[in-house]
Amino acid sequence: MLATSGLADSHTHTFRCGHAVGHEEEYIQQAVALGFSAVAITDHIPFYWLPREAHDPTLAMAPEELPAYVASVLALKERYRGTIEVLLGIEADYVEGREEELAHLLEAYPFDVVLGSVHWLDGFWVDAPSSLEVYRQGPESVRAIWEAYWNKLEKAIRTGLFDVMAHLDLPKKFGFYPEQPLADLEDGILAALVGTGTAVEVSTAGRRKPVGEDYPSPAWLDRLVAAGVPLVLASDAHAPAEVGFGFGQLVSRLLDRGVQRVVVFRGRKPVTLELPKG
Ligand code: ZN
Ligand code: FE
Ligand code: FE
Ligand code: ZN
Repeated sequence: MLATSGLADSHTHTFRCGHAVGHEEEYIQQAVALGFSAVAITDHIPFYWLPREAHDPTLAMAPEELPAYVASVLALKERYRGTIEVLLGIEADYVEGREEELAHLLEAYPFDVVLGSVHWLDGFWVDAPSSLEVYRQGPESVRAIWEAYWNKLEKAIRTGLFDVMAHLDLPKKFGFYPEQPLADLEDGILAALVGTGTAVEVSTAGRRKPVGEDYPSPAWLDRLVAAGVPLVLASDAHAPAEVGFGFGQLVSRLLDRGVQRVVVFRGRKPVTLELPKG
């Protein structure tokens, strides 16, 4: 395992998904300006599990756009060699029952990193603004969303298809939590992460959302650190200016917990990244 040092943003989007702005090169230039050692471009995977009529161009690129995305990031990897390490990534939705299609898609391209996300619970979008009314239906509804989410996330982790789980506690986005802790389900997530060696992102995206807190929560971060789960740094930037958003504080939170190294993925293998000591 090659070691490197500095900062790296392992989660960024581009104009291609229809709800972010900026070309991938602008995200890379921002990471260079910040003095980062690496940046992963991880746009949303096309809707491989939905019929063509149901594809929403404001949520993800169309399937036929994927080769051009990959070619562009690979060309930029070459162009910026020696300046910054550009990593080819993708944020891939987990959809139960469609694991084989996803595996084939992921094998078709030389990805450095695959972020695993559960945004979709059999037709319900966990984090879409249009789902807010369901969270507002009351405690039973909130609990049902969290239960379904943790169950689906554990299955996602256990597929082994993902290098890193994105926004681990995503249903908190709008600030709704179950009245009683779902300890058994949370224990299952931790066991799955440890058992499969899957990494988790520490993301500042939640600070830009109603919940106003990083993913995952401080309590979750404590548990992940104690269990030795590998961590990656993430902004989930949807605009070039958001690359590395809030990383100063994010790194302090890690150093305060005794975490001095995180990882980046290169060729789908973790590479140690020593954090700058501030
Ligand atoms: Zn997005
Ligand atoms: Fe996501
Ligand atoms: Fe994302
Ligand atoms: Zn995301």
